[in-house]
Amino acid sequence: MRVAHLVAPHRFNLVSGQIENPGPGEVQVRVKMVGVCGSDLHNFSEGSVGDAPALFPMVLGHEPSGMVVATGPGVSGWSPGDRAALEPAIYCYHCEYCRSGRHNVCNHIRFLSQPGDPGFFRDLVNLPAANLLPLPPELDLREATLFEPLAVILHSMKLAEPRLGDTAAVFGAGPIGLLTVAILKLSGVRVWAVEPVTHRRELAKKMGADATIDPSAIDTVRQILTDTGQRGVDFAIDCAAKGGSLDQAAGAIRRAGRVVVTGIPSEVRPEFDFHTLRRKEAALLSVRRSNHESEQALDLIKNHRALFAPMLTHTRPIEDIEKAFFLLERYDDGVGKLIISLG
Ligand SMILES: [Zn+2]
Ligand SMILES: [Zn+2]
Repeated sequence: MRVAHLVAPHRFNLVSGQIENPGPGEVQVRVKMVGVCGSDLHNFSEGSVGDAPALFPMVLGHEPSGMVVATGPGVSGWSPGDRAALEPAIYCYHCEYCRSGRHNVCNHIRFLSQPGDPGFFRDLVNLPAANLLPLPPELDLREATLFEPLAVILHSMKLAEPRLGDTAAVFGAGPIGLLTVAILKLSGVRVWAVEPVTHRRELAKKMGADATIDPSAIDTVRQILTDTGQRGVDFAIDCAAKGGSLDQAAGAIRRAGRVVVTGIPSEVRPEFDFHTLRRKEAALLSVRRSNHESEQALDLIKNHRALFAPMLTHTRPIEDIEKAFFLLERYDDGVGKLIISLG
């Protein structure tokens, strides 16, 4: 089978690999489509994700969909040819956090696409049966890949706690920011999208943003305060964690507001304006992936296909993965979500 190794920053090698038969309780899946996440791009561009260095060679990719090839002993309910969304996190189910329902902070979590745990830029993978979600017939394998980032957004909403009529600022309109805008609009929230790249601001509008701001051209905080009668927005979601966005989020929220950070800063020790948060008694909340929101995410994609369609702009074959990542790094060609196809 083909396996795409990230062997150094900015370099992929397509190599051939082997896979064993699926073990007890496992299903072997042919990976068909894999969305590219911002964290994949951090590894490609910077050789790290925040304070976590890449370990080369590395197999990235954790937004997969695919088709069942074979089942191991003891697996019921799955047959060859079945289509599935593939959950990339494997939990221990016995630590304090798993037992209290907070699987996303499991003590022994394995996340497929981290050093030592290969991700999905490869033809075949063996997964515990519990990691497969059946795909509704309405969904194609491409749009189904959105379930993984959308589950992260749904998890972030449990921290942001949007209410009908709230106001919110979303920083960054890459795929995570765009999905955040879409879900906030479904929740009845008025949304400002802050993004320096022109085509991404346009995508944010298409996904429902009420207003967009180019932070490289105008004073973002002043604009949001003006638009809200100097009150500020109820909460901000920072999907960029870049270019001072965290400070702008702190400045743009109302007193006793909330800042939720979904993006991952590139810096090992990010700096931010703590005192603005302190004076407002604002909450700063970090997001760690998702916690059993995948089923709900698939359901939302199925029921709002037209809402999510504009962001699915590019699909590239696995053979062109390096070129595709360069395109994403340069924000070229109006790229929104990039999906790697394994055919
Ligand atoms: Zn991701
Ligand atoms: Zn656990």
